[in-house]
Amino acid sequence: MKPFLVLMIEDSAVDAVVIRGMLSKVQATRFNVESVKTLADGISRLDRGGVDVVLLDLTLPDSQGLESFQRVVKAAPHVPVVVLTGTDDLTMAATAVEEGAQAYLVKGKIDARKLIRTVRYAIQHVEAEHAEWDSPMFRLAQQQFMKAAQIMNLDDNVRERLLFPQRTLVVTLPFRRDEYSEVENVFGYRVQHLLTAGPTKGGIRYHEDVSLGEVSALAMWMSWKCALMHLPFGGAKGGVRIDPTGVSRHELQRLTRRYTSEIIGMIGPDKDIPAPDMGTNEQVMAWIMDTYSQQVGYAVPTVVTGKPVVLGGSLGRREATGRGLVYLVEEAAGHIGLDLKHATAVVQGFGNVGSNAARFLEELGTRIVAVSDVSTGVYNPRGLSVTALAEYVDQNGTLIGYPDGEAVSNQEMLELPCDILVPAALQNQITGDNVERIQCKLLAEGANGPTTLEADEVLHERGVFVLPDILGNAGGVTVSYFEWVQGTQNYMWSLEEINSRLHRILTDAFQRTMRRAQRDQIDVRTAALIEGIQRVAEAKLVRGLFP
Ligand code: NAD
Repeated sequence: MKPFLVLMIEDSAVDAVVIRGMLSKVQATRFNVESVKTLADGISRLDRGGVDVVLLDLTLPDSQGLESFQRVVKAAPHVPVVVLTGTDDLTMAATAVEEGAQAYLVKGKIDARKLIRTVRYAIQHVEAEHAEWDSPMFRLAQQQFMKAAQIMNLDDNVRERLLFPQRTLVVTLPFRRDEYSEVENVFGYRVQHLLTAGPTKGGIRYHEDVSLGEVSALAMWMSWKCALMHLPFGGAKGGVRIDPTGVSRHELQRLTRRYTSEIIGMIGPDKDIPAPDMGTNEQVMAWIMDTYSQQVGYAVPTVVTGKPVVLGGSLGRREATGRGLVYLVEEAAGHIGLDLKHATAVVQGFGNVGSNAARFLEELGTRIVAVSDVSTGVYNPRGLSVTALAEYVDQNGTLIGYPDGEAVSNQEMLELPCDILVPAALQNQITGDNVERIQCKLLAEGANGPTTLEADEVLHERGVFVLPDILGNAGGVTVSYFEWVQGTQNYMWSLEEINSRLHRILTDAFQRTMRRAQRDQIDVRTAALIEGIQRVAEAKLVRGLFP
């Protein structure tokens, strides 16, 4: 095997000799080490190429602190960096990890085993990300996880294991267009992140941007979400890379049935239970259930959740994510002293989550001043009627031309003055580019991954209350869990029972999260992540390792 080239940028001759000595001890993998003492020399070496990993001291004669890391990343964006730090610079090193460094090592506390393992993992991770999982969303999910893992001092072995999903399936599947001779080939995915605590659970997304990285990020978030809610599931997600607005109902059915039969070995009521996500709905779940049932020879409603009530779907599932989000908005509003009767809200996305969130906020007296869908936004500072909007979308398919408001773009609407901003469409909406112009007091994340790490920090500094996705939109999977329980027991709960159980689970998770945030002086997202990750880590450690 070709040796790995390690570039060490370290001005202390003693440390450089010690580290070089440790790297030479390894038998199985060979490391060639080149060392330089200044950042300028390091960068000119990187420019020549061929470096597999950088060991970087952040404090150098010609560059100090995070700037050193940022300059290395700029020079060689795809080369993994392991930061070398002293005990007095731990915070800076942890920040470098949040910004994308693979790990940090504390000088004086490194032994050969740890060093070699860290360097090897760093190279493997970057190769895996670039070859297989590369996507901004997966990077975001990993960075959030690494930040939380660092703060909670997560067991190193568990951290390595949880950084990537446990099982992934990539399929290419053909389906027939309505024009009989036209056969379309599309990519489909099913990813199971964690199989430790029970069957896996997660939605199926139909969208033209779906990729292995995106689905893997969503599966990872599902793991933390289920653990945060104390549900007995691991995280999963699936998807097909297709624009669902460009297919007819017949095409959608054929596509869904073929996708189901491609992933059929992976799903099942005790194995992995899909649910709706963006671009899929109750009807799609019914087709998945039917296809699966045809294969096994009897009806298996519990193979999916979010199905029509007549097939064993749960009362309250359709609106559960929006309803749950608003239960949590009430808790958060109490926390920051916001009177919802006199508050205003902007809702991005008018699908399942967004339209229901808008409806329940309106019921509490909050004025909905803007909503949007993929086609346009509609703004009316005097307030929009959610019922009228829903009727208009039912009739016209989109919000374009809605008469009672002015048209705004999706980007403009995020920056409108309001008390509550609800992103309920896509990921990556509140970023370093627009965060300074976001005006809300409460950011209630209905969508998964709508806020980047960079934007998160700015919101935290500005005192904006962020209700993070894994908490904010957990109402959906919680009522999916109720649906699964009702299905496995052949029992139906009333809507009141469902809503009150939902309320109890969500508010309990909210309070646990807030206690942790206050106790550890951390932001609410990191607190929610740690609540979830800690439970997963405990479950992993108590199960032990096979074999
Ligand atoms: P949906 O398909 O019902 O609705 C999506 C909405 O977003 C539609 O109004 C669509 O027009 C709009 N949209 C799509 N692309 C857009 C763009 N580029 N700009 C603005 N709007 C755009 O999907 P959904 O189920 O409501 O899911 C929305 C988000 O909520 C997703 O991030 C999903 O992962 C998350 N989520 C959904 C559930 C659930 O139960 N459905 C649960 C948890 C999280």
